Amino acid sequence: MNFLQLNWDGLTEAVFFSAGLNYIRYFFMAGLVYYLFFHRPPTWLKPLEISKSKRPLPQNKRDVFYSFLSISIFGIVGILTYMMEKAGWTQLYKNVDEYGWAWWFLSLPVMVFIHDTYFYWTHYLMHNKKLFPYFHKVHHLSKNPTPLTSYAFHPLEAVVEAGIYPLLAIIIPLHQGALLIFFTFAFAYNILGHLGHELYPAWFIHSPFGKIFTTTTHHHQHHQKFNCNYGYYFTIWDRLIKTNHQDYEIFFRKNSTDSSQIKRLNISEKNVLKK
Ligand SMILES: [Zn+2]
Ligand SMILES: [Zn+2]
Repeated sequence: MNFLQLNWDGLTEAVFFSAGLNYIRYFFMAGLVYYLFFHRPPTWLKPLEISKSKRPLPQNKRDVFYSFLSISIFGIVGILTYMMEKAGWTQLYKNVDEYGWAWWFLSLPVMVFIHDTYFYWTHYLMHNKKLFPYFHKVHHLSKNPTPLTSYAFHPLEAVVEAGIYPLLAIIIPLHQGALLIFFTFAFAYNILGHLGHELYPAWFIHSPFGKIFTTTTHHHQHHQKFNCNYGYYFTIWDRLIKTNHQDYEIFFRKNSTDSSQIKRLNISEKNVLKK
């Protein structure tokens, strides 16, 4: 079938899964988390806030506006991927038996690894001085990010971010259910990166998980310091390319929940760092 011969059968489904679900996720997941952590935070959450610096008033409006645009672009890319599927260009499939349950489960971490690599390198490139103003500046306007910042991208960056969808669909066989779980996980992880509160204890950074996985502090520091900490799920590429901020671990320990408990008791932060 020709790419441009749009088959309307299933188009509504494609629009719903590529755009509709993202609007729902953004407004209910990011919106609800924002409300819980920033609008009406319980007292125990307040010491966990990473930065007390004020957010300029238009930040939320700008974040919601650009996120709305980004999600609309994700929807368009989703429809294009649907058209590619109809033209036989992708490896998307509906029947689990085609590749079995083992691949169904394995495809989840495979997608996460491919996405992390795709994100790291496109993100790294968008920090190039010539590309930054056109692609990535909008996202960095929020220096003290919140969950509402999660999808605040310039439309050009949104196209790059959405590119992972057709790329995955072309290079590996993917069941639609696994893809749906992956996108929900990616969405939740992105909110975690922009949570503005560190929920992990100090020991996390010295554990095998802390050596591999990013934290809220990791991405928060990226918003504050710019040219460091580019990873999405993992710090692997940052460690290999040496782009992790040199003070990341110290900054993490300062923000960790243990440190926050000590802050509550008014004990010097220096003692926490000595631990
Ligand atoms: Zn960046
Ligand atoms: Zn960010």
